[in-house]
Amino acid sequence: MRIVLLGPPGAGKGTQAKLLTGRLGVPQVSTGDILRQAVANGTQLGREAKSFMDRGALVPDEVVIGIIEERLRKPDCAQGYILDGFPRTLPQAEALSRVLASLHASVDGVLSVEVPEEDLVERLAGRRVCRGCGNMYHVDTNPPLQAGRCNTCDGALYQRDDDKEETIRHRLRVYRDQTQPLVAYYDKMGLLTRIDGRGTIEEISQRVHRALRQR
Ligand code: AMP
Repeated sequence: MRIVLLGPPGAGKGTQAKLLTGRLGVPQVSTGDILRQAVANGTQLGREAKSFMDRGALVPDEVVIGIIEERLRKPDCAQGYILDGFPRTLPQAEALSRVLASLHASVDGVLSVEVPEEDLVERLAGRRVCRGCGNMYHVDTNPPLQAGRCNTCDGALYQRDDDKEETIRHRLRVYRDQTQPLVAYYDKMGLLTRIDGRGTIEEISQRVHRALRQR
């Protein structure tokens, strides 16, 4: 199964992608995670990407397309994957089709996780992430059992630099301008299912499963 998760920052794509990988046994491929790892490791890619990420801007297409091409050719992607945060622009979507065609594959389904914009700012500003395993929490709606520590691995929780309010607003604008057009693009290709992204993680996960069963 090759699934694309579309949706604005804070819609819960990462959380749903993680749940799906457990269920479908295919990896989550998140360009955001790959880029953050490169920044943390201080690699050339990380140095290039950091200034874009800190501003909430998109990293240039050719950079992320290169990352994805390399990642999707790895053996663990042979049976499929959940793409989380890629594609984000029309040229990226077209590049994805080209890469898949060269691998004699195609996208099986695109889920657009939809949440009203006013909810997103609140979700993102309260979001905390585990340094150890990447698990997500929210200070109000999904707090950890022990303040500042991950329930699963006891790692320290932190706030992403780009989850500050001003940057959040910029990221939402970028989503509207550059990524939202992909919803219509994939709809035209007959691949799109819209998912109501409001409610609990469990409720959204059930909608995701229902949508995939119907594909
Ligand atoms: P995310 O974790 O998906 O919200 O991504 C965090 C940041 O990484 C984004 O705000 C962008 O700066 C960068 N990024 C992640 N995926 C992409 C992509 N497909 N195209 C361009 N930039 C990306």
